[in-house]
Amino acid sequence: MEKTDILSLTLQETEKLITDLGEPKFRAKQVYGWINKGMWGSEMRNVPKSLIEKLDNVCEFRLPTVKLKLVSKIDGTVKYLFELIDGECIESVFMKYEHGNTLCISSQVGCRMGCKFCASTILGRVRNLTPSEMLGQIIAAEKDTKERISNVVMMGIGEPLDNYDNTVKFLRLVSSPDSLNIGLRHISVSTCGLVNGIERLQNENLPITLSISLHAYDNEVRSSIMPINNKYGIEELLTACRRYYEATGRRISFEYTLIAGKNDTEEGAVRLASILKKYMHSNIHVNLIPLNEVKETKLSTSKNVNAFKNKLISLGVNATVRRRLGSDINASCGQLRRQSQKETV
Ligand code: SAH
Repeated sequence: MEKTDILSLTLQETEKLITDLGEPKFRAKQVYGWINKGMWGSEMRNVPKSLIEKLDNVCEFRLPTVKLKLVSKIDGTVKYLFELIDGECIESVFMKYEHGNTLCISSQVGCRMGCKFCASTILGRVRNLTPSEMLGQIIAAEKDTKERISNVVMMGIGEPLDNYDNTVKFLRLVSSPDSLNIGLRHISVSTCGLVNGIERLQNENLPITLSISLHAYDNEVRSSIMPINNKYGIEELLTACRRYYEATGRRISFEYTLIAGKNDTEEGAVRLASILKKYMHSNIHVNLIPLNEVKETKLSTSKNVNAFKNKLISLGVNATVRRRLGSDINASCGQLRRQSQKETV
């Protein structure tokens, strides 16, 4: 019989599990508290031994284990290569900001979106992460750093909306007061533009921040770097964004990675401002990301980052440049897993 993955359960589901085992309901809250701190078995000090044994028979509890850990000497950023129960690896990045500690988590092992500049997608998608594997990254990082994580960004390996049900369950779990209690307003979900997922998400009543990896101002440029654009063109994507904003009242953030000779000209900034204003009207925020060069992609970082930013601002578009944390530890996602694959292949 397959064992229940206890960390993927809600408190109510845990209560059912525990009462089905013939134990009182209040024990569920105790067990739930412990597993959300990363404790199991005899570590659950106020749980009777008999219940621990019963749970061991029907449940499994395994956090991602640290396979490799790199700590930046510049800013304290910590990059983890985590190993999962089946030996697959994913990455998470712990960053310190003034507004609190942020963890960037993965949503899949690999990715099948095929963006031309991204290391995570080079060997395709292996599998989806379960809700507990997403939660487990946060619990394992809190345990390792001994710090509380108050913000989460789903910007690691994988496309969260390509793993829709598990992502939504994770969002409900992580924000539950009985679990890690991280406010949904402190969580960003980043997508390359799966319009069907965006449309579903707007009805979930989850006040997260949606980030769109736009990276282009027209279909020609976008299709040349992001294959998803052949399925959902830029107009369709921005229309979905507009509807999402109207339905939820939540401001959308647009990510724009500057790639030399591709999307980084002054004219490009003018066209980006124009298309965003056309679809989103006001309250637009663009987060510019200097490209992290990945050997296999042969694309290079733009030198025009500040000029591009200033042009957008002069056109009334709010633009910021993403701070580069952990630049000494190869902190951009997908690169560590890729490196470890090469070493074992
Ligand atoms: N699949 C989701 C989330 C993961 S990628 C998405 O596409 O949004 C997180 C962000 O990093 C995305 O904006 C992605 O386009 C960007 N990114 C990927 N590779 C990059 C690279 N080499 N340099 C800079 N940004 C990159």
